[in-house]
Amino acid sequence: MTDEQGTSGAVLVVGGGISGLTAALEAAEVGNDVFIVEKEPTLGGRVSQLNQYFPKLCPPSCGLEINFRRIRNNRRIRTYTMTTVQSVSGTPGQYEVVLETKPRYINSNCAACGECAAACPDEIDNTFNFGLDKRKAVYLPHEMAFPRRYVIEKEGLSAAGAAAVKKACKYGAVDLEMTVETRTVHVASIVWATGWDPYDASRMANLKFGQSGAIVTNMMLERLAAPGGPTNGRILRPGDNKEIESIAFVQCAGSRDENHLEYCSYICCMATLKQMSYVREQYPDAKIYVYYIDLRTPGKYEKFREARMADENAFFIKGKVADILPDEDGGVTVIAENALTAEKMSQKVDMAVLATGMQPTQAITPAAADLQTDSNGFILTEAASGMIAAGCAKKAADVVTCTQSSTAAALKAIQISRR
Ligand SMILES: Cc1cc2nc3c(=O)[nH]c(=O)nc-3n(C[C@H](O)[C@H](O)[C@H](O)COP(=O)(O)OP(=O)(O)OC[C@H]3O[C@@H](n4cnc5c(N)ncnc54)[C@H](O)[C@@H]3O)c2cc1C
Repeated sequence: MTDEQGTSGAVLVVGGGISGLTAALEAAEVGNDVFIVEKEPTLGGRVSQLNQYFPKLCPPSCGLEINFRRIRNNRRIRTYTMTTVQSVSGTPGQYEVVLETKPRYINSNCAACGECAAACPDEIDNTFNFGLDKRKAVYLPHEMAFPRRYVIEKEGLSAAGAAAVKKACKYGAVDLEMTVETRTVHVASIVWATGWDPYDASRMANLKFGQSGAIVTNMMLERLAAPGGPTNGRILRPGDNKEIESIAFVQCAGSRDENHLEYCSYICCMATLKQMSYVREQYPDAKIYVYYIDLRTPGKYEKFREARMADENAFFIKGKVADILPDEDGGVTVIAENALTAEKMSQKVDMAVLATGMQPTQAITPAAADLQTDSNGFILTEAASGMIAAGCAKKAADVVTCTQSSTAAALKAIQISRR
């Protein structure tokens, strides 16, 4: 076990998504030492899975790469990927935190040349693309990966695969004997920026997720539209790769529902309006149906909504979807009641997109620390505590709101470190 001090007043940031990166940079750029701990092999979090992000509809690289460069250039920040917190002891101003790092099986010699993946015969599900395609058992997590280093999923590697991968690497970077490492860090405060996971769509039995390739989630659509995604950016129906002539967006899939997520995830309406643009760009004549309870596009996002609603081939139906029926031709029929006319509606489409909400990761895989949460699993920051929540770990929000809350979290962390 190694012991890393940092200067007194160091900050630990748990979660390397846009919120964690922001909090880390804000604290480090005023002089605090910062440790970033990320459980995945790369930094960037869920934003790196988006095709574009509103309001400007720019690719995620435009926000993330600047932050990666700032981190690379800042010697006060140390990053640990594939790492989680094992225990926290102490009090505000003086925490001792034990971290555990899983083996990557690729060492720092890796030049990301890709020869190992080219030689590897073994394939595994590509979780970054929500299982919509496969990847090699040795892989670069995605095109923007930072750190830019391959990773091996050892359980997916055959003996022949292991030999081929080792032989293909001319840098001696493959190390299949790597083991779990633990280290202790001493910090004054901890920013919890552990973010969110998509709500499990298979929990809404009426929406039939998993029973037809035509039923996808909003995050799967992000990957289908992304140039680095499973279809190289073409929105095609999973299973038979059919082009889209009609598509339905099912809002509040599990949200604002006491049996699932009782809260509004804040971004799903905007995400759907954004995804309408993806569809329209590729399919100028496709019919788009949006089923909603209310359309929530606060503040400056109103203009964005108005522009999408002016589309003459887009139909907005105020009504909650009651059922989705898989059809034999690979499409689905969406059943809903129009809340304004009380008419029961049945609409056949090529694809249905479930606008599933954001559930705090802390509610699904709680971190090993005594954290206060609300009944939904969002982390609460207590005034006297050195444990500070930021971004979607604190509440469901868009990127702009998350970065604001992360700057606020960094300020609180700095105050604790200087007491
Ligand atoms: C379909 C969809 C589309 C969206 N589109 C947009 C958009 O266009 N514009 C916009 O502004 N917002 C959009 N959002 C919202 C946006 O994704 C969030 O605002 C953003 O991801 C919040 O970042 P975060 O860092 O708080 O959380 P995350 O992105 O979830 O990052 C959290 C990080 O913490 C890590 N982590 C979690 N637990 C641990 C642990 N115990 N230890 C170590 N690491 C851990 C995770 O691996 C992850 O890297 C969209 C959301 C959805 C669902």
